Amino acid sequence: MDLTATNHSVTMSSGFKIPLMGIGTYGDPRTTPKGTAYESVKLAIEIGYRHIDGALVYFNEHEVGQAIREKIADGTVKREDIFYCGKLWNTFHPPELVRPALERTLKTLQLEYVDLYIIELPMAFKPGDTFYPKDENGKIVYHETDLCATWEALEACIDAGLTKSLGVSNFNKRQLELILNKPGLKYKPVTNQIECHPYFTQPKMMQYCKQNDIIIVGYSPLGTSRDPSWVNLKNPPLLEDKLLVAIAKKYNKNTAQIALRFNVQRGVVVIPKSFSPKRIKENFEIFDFFLTDDEMRAIEVTGCLPVKSKVLYCSRGESPTAHTCVFPAPTSNTTPQVIIKP
Ligand code: NAP
Repeated sequence: MDLTATNHSVTMSSGFKIPLMGIGTYGDPRTTPKGTAYESVKLAIEIGYRHIDGALVYFNEHEVGQAIREKIADGTVKREDIFYCGKLWNTFHPPELVRPALERTLKTLQLEYVDLYIIELPMAFKPGDTFYPKDENGKIVYHETDLCATWEALEACIDAGLTKSLGVSNFNKRQLELILNKPGLKYKPVTNQIECHPYFTQPKMMQYCKQNDIIIVGYSPLGTSRDPSWVNLKNPPLLEDKLLVAIAKKYNKNTAQIALRFNVQRGVVVIPKSFSPKRIKENFEIFDFFLTDDEMRAIEVTGCLPVKSKVLYCSRGESPTAHTCVFPAPTSNTTPQVIIKP
């Protein structure tokens, strides 16, 4: 497939297209100055990004929406050129809370629909407006829920015209199977958004998703922001990897561009986050070179690490409701684990 800066989309099972290159918008709300997401998304659209990954729980959807609307208003893009992915947060899994949560996102964005709406995590927290409900010991209060019922409420959101497609995030094989095997399934999940980068290449999940016509969206494609509150810093920084450094030198690129190109070239959507104008621009400059089969294999099969173990940056273990059928334990080391971010 010839990928270019203006043509790098793939078709999802819903028939809609998703650009392989997107921009992530999560920045720690405690340390990110107001207006940063707005400026970054505006610049990204000017540069050529058409896919924007956001979430209610990032607490900046109003800025992201404003940027998109202004770029539509000034004629840079039309609404249909933009692909926006929003996420259903853990406190809104009960079916009656699903549509109001999506409507809240749309109201915040001031858009009429999102292109993709995904279940952010396959686990529920105590329902309500406290996004991180905690008990008296400071422990997260989980909530038993039925992912299939949540999914049916999401399907109704497609019928109501609030989203074009539905997907999931951080789902393992059995959680995906729960949805795919649901009696009366009306709309299949089109994507599974999971941690995916050269240190965690997700071969088993890739194979399973390919078989089921599900596209993988790779989050943390640069190895995360290495925020100690949710990232295991014992793991080595991806962007300093020797193999990536060597390949980057050959193409006169940087390691971030090699990491992104690697995933895009194998059909994995990437959503690198940057709020730095220079890096937003650089991250998009991955369509003027390609990696050889040997280089792809070296990164994919051998992995970049000197040891063979793969590194999941965001793992935070399982929810206590893991014994229920709605949150089964993972089955392999390539299964996405639960993360809980600030
Ligand atoms: P990431 O995109 O792998 O890395 C972001 C970090 O890399 C930031 O610290 C950024 O800093 C830095 N960076 C960006 N471009 C760079 C470059 N060219 N060279 C060096 N450093 C660079 O990590 P992420 O934010 O965890 O993941 C990306 C997006 O995926 C998120 O924003 C979010 O939209 C989504 N996500 C989803 C989930 C989920 O559970 N579904 C979980 C995590 C993330 P600057 O901003 O200073 O450039």
